[in-house]
Amino acid sequence: MDDGVRLKICETFVSIQGESSYAGQPCFFVRLTGCNLRCHCCDTTYAYSEGKEMAIEDILSGARDSGVGLVEITGGEPLLQKGTPALIKSLCDEGFSVLVETNGSMKIDLIDSRAVAILDIKTPGSGMAEEMFYGNLEILRPHDEIKFVIADRADYLWTKGVIEKFGLMDRNILLSPSFELLSPEVLVEWIIEDHLNVRLNLQLHKYVFGDRRGV
Ligand code: SF4
Repeated sequence: MDDGVRLKICETFVSIQGESSYAGQPCFFVRLTGCNLRCHCCDTTYAYSEGKEMAIEDILSGARDSGVGLVEITGGEPLLQKGTPALIKSLCDEGFSVLVETNGSMKIDLIDSRAVAILDIKTPGSGMAEEMFYGNLEILRPHDEIKFVIADRADYLWTKGVIEKFGLMDRNILLSPSFELLSPEVLVEWIIEDHLNVRLNLQLHKYVFGDRRGV
């Protein structure tokens, strides 16, 4: 247990997991403060600076009290904080299933091997495609997932190119239509037309609760 480690936490809450292959499951979310990117469609701008310092033990205690076995570490960009790998390890040691959503710009090698990395690869529509660290694709484990948010046809074609270029066809790929910019139906048509071996990733929480924070 890393009693001395403190992290800046924007919010914690229990909701359903809205994304990834864990979508629909109850989940305890830990949103860390701070992000090194500025995506055009960012829906968590409040996480850039809002938050308070918390000890790992306090976060663990919140996870235990939540009564759910799935925890997501998200942000912001959680890997910006030096204490995040210790938090992930502590949660894994306690037997939680841990998902770590990371924005693709930071090296993911310090994520505990028991946790699942959900690695964003930012598309051109985000304005942040140039910030990606592609070396991560070589250190992904089989259980990790790769997410692309698609804003339009150009993003979709770019994503297809990345999947082909890096030989990602057999990985766990999530294609997410950008909320309010691309209809899920259109994205499904493209996926079926191209026989892409990917999972449609809807932000389920937004369909359930609308576009508000803390859910
Ligand atoms: S990486 Fe995530 S939190 Fe950071 S700007 Fe992009 S969408 Fe927002």
